[in-house]
Amino acid sequence: ILEANLAPMWVESNGIGVVAVFHDLTAIRRLEQMRKDFVANVSHELRTPITSIRGFSETLLDGAMQDPDTCQEFLKIILEESIRLQRLVGDLLDLSTIESKQMAMNFEQLSIASFLQNITKTLDEQARNKEQTLRVEIKEDFQIRMDPDRLKQIVLNLVSNAIAYTPAGGEIRVQVDQEEKDWILVVSDTGMGIPEEDLGRIFERFYRVDKARSRESGGTGLGLAIVKHLVEEYEGEIKVTSKMGEGTTFTIWFSKE
Ligand code: ADP
Repeated sequence: ILEANLAPMWVESNGIGVVAVFHDLTAIRRLEQMRKDFVANVSHELRTPITSIRGFSETLLDGAMQDPDTCQEFLKIILEESIRLQRLVGDLLDLSTIESKQMAMNFEQLSIASFLQNITKTLDEQARNKEQTLRVEIKEDFQIRMDPDRLKQIVLNLVSNAIAYTPAGGEIRVQVDQEEKDWILVVSDTGMGIPEEDLGRIFERFYRVDKARSRESGGTGLGLAIVKHLVEEYEGEIKVTSKMGEGTTFTIWFSKE
């Protein structure tokens, strides 16, 4: 039995027989492995921009600063990498706050129509910069009770992904609807799609289908992990469907109560 990942918790004899209680170690080992992987991933993700910032600064100080074009180019890279670091640290902090359940929830009564109109303004610009169309479809307005900052984070993460992984000319849609007990948020795009074998893993921290493309789009690999945690915090459910070369759809169900 001990070989099968079971550790004795306590053994007691009452004179008639012996009672032994075993503790399953498989789950503990798996958690420990996940923790180790996470630390390794974070270190790697932090090291990449730091190495780049350090390297370009050193080269500038070693003389490259004399050439204005090189100077401009290197400073631009240093700035971009600093922004990446800042985003990464921000996402890591968000994730740890959500996971530790320390997140203060600031529930407010919101009209879904005005809420979406407010937050999609900046997204609309992002989409237009990529020659994409962003459509917001609300059949009829309704009221929800949620923390506006958290809901904003969910929508922003999903829509910026849709924009990042959809080529120029594509379409991004945000739809809301309500059923008897739930209200539904759908974010869909006409982008590159996600291979079927990756669909089950995209909500994992730092899991990316294409690392290079994620880096290029400024991704931290944490956006969907944050979305999933937030949805779970609201006891909602998130599902994804996708077809390669046709597009991806994320659907979230939130309880109206
Ligand atoms: P990232 O910062 O890399 O975008 P996310 O956690 O937000 O990290 O997403 C994880 C991965 O899922 C992305 O790297 C990308 O490969 C894939 N992905 C997410 N959203 C989409 C989408 N709308 N279309 C295609 N692939 C997507």
